[in-house]
Amino acid sequence: MNKITFPHMGDYYIPINYLLENITKSIVIVPPPITKKTIELGSKYSPDYVCMPFKYNLGNFIEALENGANVILQAGGGCRYGYYAELQEQILKDLGYKFEFVNFIENNHVSIFNIYNYAKSLNKKLNIISFSYYALNTAIMIIIMDKLSKYPRENLGFEKEKNSFLNTKRQFQEELKMKKHTPLSLVRLFLKYKRKYKSLPINKPKNCLKIGLVGELYSIMEPNSSNNIELKLASLGIEVHRFTTLTYLLFQKKHRLKKLLKKGKKYLKYHLGADATESVVLSMELAEKHYDGIVHIKSFGCTPELNAMSILEKISTDYEIPIIYFSFDSGTSDVGIETRIEAFYDMILQKKKD
Ligand code: SF4
Repeated sequence: MNKITFPHMGDYYIPINYLLENITKSIVIVPPPITKKTIELGSKYSPDYVCMPFKYNLGNFIEALENGANVILQAGGGCRYGYYAELQEQILKDLGYKFEFVNFIENNHVSIFNIYNYAKSLNKKLNIISFSYYALNTAIMIIIMDKLSKYPRENLGFEKEKNSFLNTKRQFQEELKMKKHTPLSLVRLFLKYKRKYKSLPINKPKNCLKIGLVGELYSIMEPNSSNNIELKLASLGIEVHRFTTLTYLLFQKKHRLKKLLKKGKKYLKYHLGADATESVVLSMELAEKHYDGIVHIKSFGCTPELNAMSILEKISTDYEIPIIYFSFDSGTSDVGIETRIEAFYDMILQKKKD
């Protein structure tokens, strides 16, 4: 019996789990949420030089294999992540695990045909119509999750009832997990929770501090890999904006790249790889829109974002916008992050008053 697993990235395990269960008709084992143990396991068996997402993924795989998984799916690309699968497979085999490793990456990008062919090999009844139906529902789930995350991010720091946003998000996710979805039911769910979020009482000053979060996609989308930095910023009463989402990566990025390079031509000649071009151009846009500050985050060892950082320094000077940089690895402590965020907060607050 196939027991399939895949790596975590934020809350996106919900639509991925939905898709895999429906197209493969196999058991899907979602790895346990990322904890200190996951990071320690991943780091222990990874080469030192790889970037952090490799280590988190490896930790996810080990925990899922221990929970009975026997098939590992890997997908992703756009940077050296696209070449990690083979190495992860070899490390896990050397550790003595017995499993099948299925890699959907082709030419450093996820191949939808590979996903279909693999699902078809497990589920003979699958055809292109049923596959497209579940893929469509999955896409809608991802889009509504991303759309619904925007308002809480901007207003969480001003809630009147403690955890009201978090509790509403939990309710939404439970409904998203439980229902037998159709495109229409998903749209209804979206509208229901959009209303719910907007009805939560907040106490938000008109001229509150506003920051933009830019940087490496995994650190941005997997909160446990960046010490929950969004929550930490919000807890200080800051309106937080971020732009990297799975919706963007899957459906928008490909078409935006040319425009981004055009917009950023003062600082960029070529695409920097992964999301680093976005980091540069978004920072320009945030500065032009008079945000109070920019928080740049990346996993330790991320070369594309390292290249972006020197350009961001120039943007910070040219536009007179404060930028703070965080690089996360297995040793990053909450205390260190909080201290730096508080200092940054004091600085942008003073700048705003001046
Ligand atoms: S974007 Fe950077 S940290 Fe993320 S997988 Fe690619 S190289 Fe690694």
